[in-house]
Amino acid sequence: AFSRKIQQLLQVQLQPKAGTGNQPAITAADLVAALQRNELSLCYQPKYQLTDNKLVGFEALARWKSPLFGQVPPTVFIQLAEQSGVIDALTDWVLAEVIAQLSRWSEQKLSTCVAVNLSLINLQNINFPARLLHELKCHQLQPQQLVLELTESAFMNEVVTALDILIRLRMNGIELSIDDFGTGYSSLAQLQRIPFTELKIDRRFIANFLHEAESQAIVETCINLAHKMHIRTVAEGVETAETLQALQAIGCDYAQGYFFHPPLTVPQATELLKAVVL
Ligand code: C2E
Ligand code: MG
Ligand code: MG
Ligand code: MG
Repeated sequence: AFSRKIQQLLQVQLQPKAGTGNQPAITAADLVAALQRNELSLCYQPKYQLTDNKLVGFEALARWKSPLFGQVPPTVFIQLAEQSGVIDALTDWVLAEVIAQLSRWSEQKLSTCVAVNLSLINLQNINFPARLLHELKCHQLQPQQLVLELTESAFMNEVVTALDILIRLRMNGIELSIDDFGTGYSSLAQLQRIPFTELKIDRRFIANFLHEAESQAIVETCINLAHKMHIRTVAEGVETAETLQALQAIGCDYAQGYFFHPPLTVPQATELLKAVVL
C-alpha cells in the first residue's frame, strides 16, 4: 500500500518551492525520493515520570539526512510534507517503523511505549484507526503502547472526520496527547471535544517558568486544569535540575528534555531500556 501511494505521488506534478539564499530549493519530489531511498530515520527521546524518575517511554522524532541538502530540520520537511500531501506516506512510514521497533524491543523483553507525532491531515481517512489497530495486533502489541501526539491547529474545527477518528482510536485503547499546548488556536475548546489522555505543556512556557511569573502561572494552571479533567501532564524541553524540581513541586506528571536525554539513536535507546530492566 505504501509503495502504491508513492507511485501515485510521483505521477502528480509537484510544485517546486523557492530556494532561500544559497540553499537549494527542496521540493516534495525530493522528500518522496528520500523516503524511497531510506534517507529518513527515527530517533527516540525518553520520557520520565516525575514521582519516581521512572522511564515511561519515548517520543519518535523524524530525521532526514540528505546527501544533497544535508541534515534537514523536521520543521522544514514536515511542513513541506503537509503542504504537498506527502505527509500521509511519511506518517505511514513512521508508524510502520515504530511498530517494528516496539516489536523488536518486545522480543528482547524490553516492552515500552512510543509516542508518534501526527498531522491533522492524517486524520481524514476513516479507515486509519482500523488499519493501525490491525498492524498493532499483527505485531502482538497493545494499543496502550502507542501514544498519538497532535498539535493544536486552527482548522481542527472544520475537520469532522478527524474527531470521529480520534474517538475511535481512543475507544480502542490508543493514547492521545495534545502537543505544544497553549500555543495553538482554541486549545480549551479542543480539550473539551477530544478525549485526550495527555497534555504536553509547550517548551516556551517551561523555558521561562523559573524566572517569569506569567509562565509560572500558565504552567500551574495547565497542570491544575489537566488534572481536573483526569489528563496527565508532560513538560517539554526540561533543560535544568532547577526546572525539574519546580515541576515536581507543582505536581507535573512527566517530563522530557535535554536534562534527561536528547533524542537518542535506536542503539542508545535500547541500552537505556536494558539498564532500566536489569
Ligand atoms: P515536538 O513534537 O514538539 O517535539 C519536540 C521537539 O523539541 C523536538 O524537536 C525535540 O528534539 C526538541 N527538544 C526536546 N527536548 C528539548 C530540550 O530540552 N530543549 C530544546 N530546546 N528542544 C528540545 P525536533 O525533533 O526538531 O522536532 C520538531 C517538531 O517537528 C516536533 O515538535 C514535531 O512537531 C515535528 N515532528 C518531528 N518528527 C515528526 C514526525 O515524525 N511526524 C510529524 N507529523 N511531525 C514531526
Ligand atoms: Mg511531539
Ligand atoms: Mg508538535
Ligand atoms: Mg511539542
